[in-house]
Parts: sequence; structure tokens; C-alpha cells
Amino acid sequence: MKEYSLDNIIIYKFDKLEEFDEVLHFVSTRKGGISNDCFSGLNTGFHVGDDNFRVLQNRRMLTEALGIDLMNCTFANQCHTSNVAIVNDSGRGRGALEKETALTNTDALVTNVPNICLGVQVADCVPILLYDPVFRVIASVHAGWKGTVRKIAGETVYKMVYNYGSRPENIIACLGPSNGPCCYEVGNEVVREAGSALGSLKGIIRETGREGRFIFDQWEANVRQLKDSGLKGDNIELPGICTQCNSGMFYSHRKHNGMTGRFMAGIMLKKRRL
Ligand SMILES: [Zn+2]
Repeated sequence: MKEYSLDNIIIYKFDKLEEFDEVLHFVSTRKGGISNDCFSGLNTGFHVGDDNFRVLQNRRMLTEALGIDLMNCTFANQCHTSNVAIVNDSGRGRGALEKETALTNTDALVTNVPNICLGVQVADCVPILLYDPVFRVIASVHAGWKGTVRKIAGETVYKMVYNYGSRPENIIACLGPSNGPCCYEVGNEVVREAGSALGSLKGIIRETGREGRFIFDQWEANVRQLKDSGLKGDNIELPGICTQCNSGMFYSHRKHNGMTGRFMAGIMLKKRRL
């Protein structure tokens, strides 16, 4: 993935999605924006205790810099489920101006409607953007350890296949900045739940040498899940940017002891020219 500067706002883009002119996508950072203190920078999360006006201004500045209308952005309320929502015209703008209107009980969004930007907000959890260039279907996924264990990425691929006829071997998947295997420590409860849900934890859970503390590789767990769903390894982009190691650029829940903002990843099908 590559870094871009839009005036004073810094965003990143995935190499594999940049190949498609009909798709607009981005991953925002802390750089730019008007939030202060622990939220300092371009916080896009309404739900973290920041001033709502500043968050709204940040979202306006970001979308304006990207050339999209904030009212065309749709957000889920992200509560660590494996629930996937299909977004149609009536879902346009849900959660754009306030958290109360975000789609409830949902952690992934799928659409084939042009000009709707599907957003996911994170600070350590894995943001995943999906695109089927054949049937032109997009998705955004929020996968923390719970969502990963509940197989939200696999469920999203399934929805694309079931609702739109996508073939998994055509789908591109990109995993954004998140807590990497260099840093992401978990306790026994995560290992237990992961073991019963994912089966083999070889390459996913690593011992730290300290009692009851393990490394959970949520990147590998999601890549494996996407491959199990039929995606080709060549169609999966994993830039390997760890939020905890790069907390100056990205918000990190762990690094900042839970008091921090959220950056966002977004994907939108551009309106087709007539
Ligand atoms: Zn790290």
C-alpha cells in the first residue's frame, strides 16, 4: 500500500485496489483533522468520547479531500459480531452524521450500488476491504479478535456469493493497518475461543514465554479464513502495517490504553459514465 497527501490529510491506498478505475478507496490516518488531546488528529469515531463537532468536521474534511459526499457514506455500529448487512439506497448515509443512525448489530457492509461509500472504523482491529471486479460488488469488514473468531470475513464473502453471484476466486481482499503479530498479546480466553472456532491454531497463536500470555496473529487468521472461503492468495493484499508500532500515524487502542480515536477505511463504486 502507498501513502498519499491530500493537502494536510494523509491517506493510504492498497496496490491491488488501485488497479481498478471504477473503485475509489482509502485508509485514513491521524494526519490532518482538528481533534485534540488523546484523539489528536483526524479522529473519525463518534463513539470514543471525542467532541462530536470535531469528529463531524474531520469526516467532512476527509470526504471533501477525497471528492466524495459524506452523506453517501454508510457505517455499521461495529459490535464484534459476524453479522453482514446488504446496503442499498435506503442505507445511504446511515451513521454518516451521528453514531445513532449507523446500522445496528452489524460489522460488515456489502453493496453493488454505485456512489455509496462503505466505511469501517478501527484502532487495532483489522479493517478489510473486498472487491469483486466481475460483478462489481464491494464490502467493508471490521474484524477484531472476536469478529475473526466468529468468521466475519468468511461470512462477508458468503454474502457476496449468495446475494450477488460473486465467485470467490475473483474477489480481491485487502487487510489494512491493525495490531500485528509483533505486538498483539492476548490471554487464555482468546486462545480457548480461537481454538474451538478455528481448529488448528498453528501459525495463528504463538507463546510469549510468559504465563497465560500469547501472540494472536489476526492477520494470518483472516488470510487463512479468506483462502478457506475460496479467495486466491495472489488476490489478498496484506501490507503488514502494525498500528501499535505506528501509533503516530494510526490510532492504536492498545498503545493508548483505550483512550484514542479511530481511523477509517472506505470503499465506493464510482458512478458509471453514461
Ligand atoms: Zn507491532
